[in-house]
Amino acid sequence: MSEHRYVVIVGCGRLGSHLANSISHEGHSVVVVDRKESAFGRLTPEFSGFRVKGDATELGVLRQAAVEKADVVIATTNSDNINLMVAQFARVEFGAERVLARVLEPRRKDIYRTLGVETISPTSVAAKLFIRHLGIAEGAR
Ligand code: AMP
Repeated sequence: MSEHRYVVIVGCGRLGSHLANSISHEGHSVVVVDRKESAFGRLTPEFSGFRVKGDATELGVLRQAAVEKADVVIATTNSDNINLMVAQFARVEFGAERVLARVLEPRRKDIYRTLGVETISPTSVAAKLFIRHLGIAEGAR
């Protein structure tokens, strides 16, 4: 296990639950936040972290997740606007050192950069993988 971390994951859907299960399995402390109780059903029985049910655009909900103590905050909801808002709160209101966000629209990456938020765009990653899988050189379009 790498150095122990406290990780807050916002959104416990297809992406967030996968991250939560893997990061918890590695021995780190994880708190997952989702507004739908049913989302927590995606967590494995081995998941040893905490769950916070609520709308992550509310400061009180992020406070319940102890975002101010987090080493890493990952915003993985299915909405770029919500992820941007959560990332902004985490950085500005709670002073989180490291914030990562899922960005569905790759053109929006620059807005996050100005906030000091790292981004991963599953859209761009998937496009690259499709192209590689087809054996078509990128840039040959
Ligand atoms: P998925 O696209 O499957 O990774 O799911 C995204 C997850 O984000 C779903 O479980 C949603 O309930 C959750 N989500 C969306 N908006 C919010 C929000 N404002 N606060 C907390 N969770 C949210």
